Formats: sequence, C-alpha cells, structure tokens
Amino acid sequence: MPRKPIIAGNWKMYKNSQEAVALVAELRKRVGYVHRVDIVVCPPFTALEAVAGCLGASGIALGAQNCHWAAEGAFTGEISPRTLKEMGCRYVILGHSERRQLFGETDATVSRRLAGALAFGLIPIVCVGETLEERKAGRTEEVIAAQLAGSLEGLTPAQCAGLIVAYEPVWAIGTGVAATADDAQSVIAFIRRRLGDMFGAAAEGARLLYGGSVKPVNIGSFMAKPDIDGALVGGASLDADSFAGIVAAAAEEE
Ligand code: PEP
Repeated sequence: MPRKPIIAGNWKMYKNSQEAVALVAELRKRVGYVHRVDIVVCPPFTALEAVAGCLGASGIALGAQNCHWAAEGAFTGEISPRTLKEMGCRYVILGHSERRQLFGETDATVSRRLAGALAFGLIPIVCVGETLEERKAGRTEEVIAAQLAGSLEGLTPAQCAGLIVAYEPVWAIGTGVAATADDAQSVIAFIRRRLGDMFGAAAEGARLLYGGSVKPVNIGSFMAKPDIDGALVGGASLDADSFAGIVAAAAEEE
C-alpha cells in the first residue's frame, strides 16, 4: 500500500494560545481541504487545548512535542501521554535533537516515551540525526543505526508499520542549510533498510520524513525521492504562507 505523505509543523516554544489560534485559523482556510497529505501541527503544550478547539473537522491533526511514559505520577514538569490523547492529540514528536542536546534525552528515554505514547494510541514521530562533526567524520550511518536500535527497542513489527521516523541532521535544523535531496534520500533509504533488518516487511509501512530547513522552495525536491514520505518543519511552520506553501507543494508532488 502506498504511504500517505505527511507534513508536520513543530512550533517549538513559539506562539501563545491567541497566536496559535490565529495561525491555525489561517491554515484551515488555506490547506484545511487538502486530503492527499496528512497535515499535523505541534504547538507548545500551553496552546494545545486552544488549537484543538479550532481544528474542528478540518483535515489538520494535532500533535505534541514530547511526552512522558507514565499515565500519571510524581514527574514534575512532564506531560502524560494519556492527557495528550484526552486533549485531542493524534501525534507526538519524540527524541527531537533539541531535547537530546539541551535536555539530556537519550535513546533509552526515547524508547520509554515511545512505549508510553503507543500505549495511549498516539502516533510517534521519532527523530534521529547526526551532528556536523559526526557527518564530517563519516559516522552518519553508524550514529543513525545506534539511535534507531536504542530508541526503537522493544517495538513490534506491527508498531513499526505505523511509526513515523524523522531524519533531522542536527546541522540542518534552524540553520537555513538543508541537506541536499540526494543526501537526505541516501540516509532515509538507509533508515528503511535498518528498519527492515529490525522489523522485516513492516518497514515498508513506516513513514520516513526529512527535517532541517525545509521551505516551500525545497520541499518538492525532497518529496520527489522514493523513500521520503514528507517533512518535519520547524521555522517555516510558524508562518501560514510558508507552511501552507510547503503543504501545497507536497500535495502537488504526489
Ligand atoms: C525542527 O526543529 O524539527 C526543524 C526541522 O527545524 P527547521 O525547519 O527550522 O530547520
């Protein structure tokens, strides 16, 4: 079965509730009718409820930027996957490089969060990617393989088939310097082969995204590649024109 393309916006720590609602209202007008591409917005936790309230019956789905593994407990500052589900989230980003680099996230904690997300029916978007130093040292595949092995430990083939993995080279995030489509395809094809080694034929169902300085002008080159099923978009998802432009271009490419 062909994999449905997906464009997800990671709003990071931007937008208060009012700003978030205004952005979603614009997106609904511009791309709320697009059905060839799954569209996801991941606002800060503080704006989830407001955004959920204005997504309505549009085709735009709600995602969160992280979740804990437990349903509840004494975990100050964390957020439960059960709460996210109850608030209307369908997706959750896990293991983003900013969490790995700035907040001590490891493959082991990503794997626990992944289990928690799956237990509550959230669709995980697991992020992997090498630093510039690792790329220059020719270690990209080794690093990605280790992140996949650690982060996806304990996953079943059926769970793999519903998984989303975002390849986000750390050096391309927020820098304006995207990977070339050929380089992204090469690493993403490697990710699919590794998933195949780990989970067999289920790897063909997993959706693999590119992330890192995606813009309306370059999304087409990524979508044209056989193993790239969409994009995780940071900066360009904060503006209705650019995010809608990315979604429209991705829908055209299909
Ligand atoms: C991200 O943070 O996931 C990301 C890809 O950011 P940007 O698009 O701004 O590079």
